[in-house]
Amino acid sequence: MFNSYFSFQGHTMNPHYEVLFDKVPIGPVVAPNRFYQVPHASGMTEANPRVRAAFRGLKAEGGWGVVSTGAVSIHPSSDDSPLPYARLWDDNDIHAHALSCDAIHQHGALAAIELWHGGASVMNRSSRIAPYSPSGVGWAATHVGFMGQLRPKIMDATDIQDVLRWQGQAAIRAKKAGFDIIYVYAGMGYLPYQFLISEYNRRDDAYGGSVANRVRFVHELIEATRDAVGDSCAVALRISLEELRAKSSNHFESEAHEVVSLLSEAPDLWDVKMDSSPTDCSASRFRPEGSHESIIDFVKQITDKPVVGVGRFTSPDTMTSQINRGILDLIGGARAGIADPFLPNKIKAGREDEIRECIGCNICISSWHDGVPVRCTQNATAGEEWRKNWHPEKFNRTSSEDRLLIIGAGPAGLEAALIAAKQGFQVTLSDQSKNMGGRLNFETALPGLSTWRRVIDYRLYALKQMNNVDLYSNSELSRDDILELGHERVVIATGAKWTKSLYSSLEIPVGELNQPNVYTPDDIAAGIKINGPVLVYDFDNYYLGGVLAEKLAAQGLSVSYATPAGHASAWTIMTNEQPFVHQNLENAGIPVITQVLLQSHENDTIGLANIFTEKLQQLAAKSVLIVGLRRPNDSLYQTLISNPNATLAAGIKSVDRIGDCLAPGAIVHAIYSGHDYARNLVTTRSNLYLRDIPIAVNPPGAVI
Ligand code: ADP
Ligand code: SF4
Repeated sequence: MFNSYFSFQGHTMNPHYEVLFDKVPIGPVVAPNRFYQVPHASGMTEANPRVRAAFRGLKAEGGWGVVSTGAVSIHPSSDDSPLPYARLWDDNDIHAHALSCDAIHQHGALAAIELWHGGASVMNRSSRIAPYSPSGVGWAATHVGFMGQLRPKIMDATDIQDVLRWQGQAAIRAKKAGFDIIYVYAGMGYLPYQFLISEYNRRDDAYGGSVANRVRFVHELIEATRDAVGDSCAVALRISLEELRAKSSNHFESEAHEVVSLLSEAPDLWDVKMDSSPTDCSASRFRPEGSHESIIDFVKQITDKPVVGVGRFTSPDTMTSQINRGILDLIGGARAGIADPFLPNKIKAGREDEIRECIGCNICISSWHDGVPVRCTQNATAGEEWRKNWHPEKFNRTSSEDRLLIIGAGPAGLEAALIAAKQGFQVTLSDQSKNMGGRLNFETALPGLSTWRRVIDYRLYALKQMNNVDLYSNSELSRDDILELGHERVVIATGAKWTKSLYSSLEIPVGELNQPNVYTPDDIAAGIKINGPVLVYDFDNYYLGGVLAEKLAAQGLSVSYATPAGHASAWTIMTNEQPFVHQNLENAGIPVITQVLLQSHENDTIGLANIFTEKLQQLAAKSVLIVGLRRPNDSLYQTLISNPNATLAAGIKSVDRIGDCLAPGAIVHAIYSGHDYARNLVTTRSNLYLRDIPIAVNPPGAVI
């Protein structure tokens, strides 16, 4: 399928990339190309089926040849509450999934479903069924939201037969919904994976002991699925190979080699991945594109079945290389397709320079942990396709002659400018700095964050192609300048400033630490040199405190890191980064002091009080870098709105503030704010967003 709003004029596909558009047979079905949106969490459930169908359908519209669901529970004994997981438990659920299948099929793609049983990794908080496991070994959850006190039961022979039956029944429902590829999911700590790993599986029956025995349950799940639907649907196996590859085997290179050999021709498709979310879906700060290769590179040598894998692939050269070197048959994408659902079509149209490349920030994963539909830093439309009728590549054209003046070219200003310009407005974007990009100019030069520069590059590149956009750098605008220019619509996107505010243990601001040798990230950005030893005191809790500690240590300063939270960069647990943050700080020789409040800074000595006991400890440090609260840089906005008569007289119809100037947040919030502002200039909707509701064709009743 190809969409008319991509012009072929002047563009042709690079012949080198043609291989990416080969058809690939998968059992009884055929993928129309090699772009495979692998299963990934969307935070969309049967409660919002239209939101989900629009989100998945758009990937097919963008050219992905296969589009999959995220994990779909086969039975109430696999209950991941309160996380927003999907289900296929009864016929009402079939209808909800059928909507997605229709949306995917409409564009000629195959629909896949990842049937899932969580085993010991779920706490069954809603169904209250004792969790299932091969040998009663619980899952060591460390995330507060995942912790639970219920340990799993040991499955007996009847339990094993029950799960096999539920898999078959769910497969039949999946086929009725219209899915073409049905998964058995043996990854990431879930039930079939627990059977494969010797530490989880200590059984002494036919399902435990040797690798051949441990593989039996997975094999039987594949057979149960094939018996149920194999005549017309492909059966895929998704498997994590990191841990297995690290285990030696008597007759094979590793247990991973042995497992793949034992199952080699059993599934119609191998979907291969890593074992834990932080390594499988790793942030760009810690892992490069294609980082799975050393674990999964052997699979194609053992099986004749097609193999799909991921690796945050955004470069068509990397993708082509994976195919040509015989690593993968299908290019798996989760984040790449969230950030740009139209990645395949852009490559096909020879417009790969227009790909909105994923930056690997993992805000998308944080939405799952937050329990809401997916949000993406690069793509503000992700999750809003149905709710707000936002299409990432289609825009309502304005009939208005209004000219826009946007002051501040950070993420918010750049996004507002781009979306307004795409809607046909005449846009002027002005920034006082030499370089456009706002806070990202500084932050993307910090350790590990260079990939985030794509936020600037994508937008600036697109803006420079448009003839209804004027870009002015080195242009600080005052209130009088703005009145004189007299654009009909003025948008203030002047960002926020870090403050020297401190917090009490009750999280109440308790004044600023205004004294010499106390700094904020803005001072570091301005190039101010600070003297060591330095304490980074972080209660922002996202990446910046940890990254700045690393940067200062790399400059040769003696650095300590302190926080009132229980971990360094505590919120990065949501983005899969926290284990690596701690690794980096440890490797850089930066001591981490947790659960403390900064009390005093006198005579090169810092007083830190334990947040629970108030017990004081002292630390020698000349300088303190406070990474804490931000305050909007909104004085320009306030002066403009304080005199409405003056703005009216200047012909200004509206003055708005967006991004950090409105409410300081992460880059994702600034981009969304800019996008939302621009879309609302021409929106045809009067409501905030459409509310989705479940589909209930049959009366509520007992589940299987
Ligand atoms: P956001 O994340 O909301 O986009 P940033 O802090 O990244 O905010 O960007 C704000 C931008 O606004 C910076 O590039 C800054 O140079 C610019 N800016 C601030 N005040 C002015 C002004 N008076 N005139 C022009 N540009 C300004
Ligand atoms: Fe990529 Fe970040 Fe978007 Fe996720 S949120 S898809 S990591 S850009």
